[in-house]
Amino acid sequence: MLLSLVIPCYNESANIEPLFARLFPVLDTLPLDWEVVCVNDGSRDDTLDRLNAVHAREPRVRVVDLSRNFGKEAALSAGLAVADGDAVVPMDADLQHPPELLPDLVARWREGFDVVIAIRQARTGQSASNRLGARVFYWLFDRMSEVPLPREAGDFRLLDRVVVDVINRMPERTRFMKGIFAWVGFRQTTIPYVQGERASGETKWGFLKLLRFSMVGLTAFSTFPLRVWGLVGAVVSGLAFCYIVMRLLRTALFGIDVPGYESIIVTVLFLGGVQLLTLGIIGDYLGRVFDEVKGRPLYIVRSIRGRAAPSAVSRG
Ligand code: UDP
Ligand code: MG
Repeated sequence: MLLSLVIPCYNESANIEPLFARLFPVLDTLPLDWEVVCVNDGSRDDTLDRLNAVHAREPRVRVVDLSRNFGKEAALSAGLAVADGDAVVPMDADLQHPPELLPDLVARWREGFDVVIAIRQARTGQSASNRLGARVFYWLFDRMSEVPLPREAGDFRLLDRVVVDVINRMPERTRFMKGIFAWVGFRQTTIPYVQGERASGETKWGFLKLLRFSMVGLTAFSTFPLRVWGLVGAVVSGLAFCYIVMRLLRTALFGIDVPGYESIIVTVLFLGGVQLLTLGIIGDYLGRVFDEVKGRPLYIVRSIRGRAAPSAVSRG
């Protein structure tokens, strides 16, 4: 039995040593073989050198170097494609995911679960605006999408080989991993953990980046924003029809009165606004379709240290 950890690293130089200092003792207590797949996501600091140094000391640490920064979701996908384990655990490099939880994850997996999700008990190291944003996002996601997203579940979870194979075969380029993990199903269970503070450095997720990420998540897992305008259109047309009948009757009974500037300008502006909004949303989906159709790889691997992987580029 082999356990793979997948750790995307972007500018995590100061965290690499502390991470492995905490990771190795835990890994050595596990009743199975292990490997660690570190994906260097185009870091601009010396993260890669430090990872390579660890690899030189401990060959079970494999280093996948991407050709540039592709973002966490792509880095994670690269790691999942390279990992050989019978179970795979994605983890952050900043020690917010406590390695001490690994024995518990493995224990639940051994009991027969395919997915063991670590559920965050407290959101430490996050701003109030990000926390509020997360609540709004989950609320919207629940209402719009058929996929139930478990609360407070990040990427920290154990995935059985079967699940990893399914995910690796998913061709979509819009990698909203939380959603993909939930979408595949299988026998899932959860265990709680307390998320620590970021060991060192800053989070890469500002409010705007999270907002964009949420939009991607919503549009990748729901067509509701696209369809709702049909309903809005039907309601507006219905009201307009009633209004037309009313105006016609009024004109027939009482003759024409000319004033009506506000009602015209208000309707024109309102409907113009709604139409632009709708176009924007259609544009958002169209952009995503365009990305999918181009069929570019999700990520490009520059080099791999450790066991050779089947293919250098993601499936086309
Ligand atoms: N990360 C990455 N590529 C990126 C941004 C982040 O590989 O473009 C990695 C980062 O090195 C870390 C993990 O993703 O291991 C989570 O990032 P971060 O701690 O900034 O996010 P947060 O914990 O605040 O959600
Ligand atoms: Mg973090």
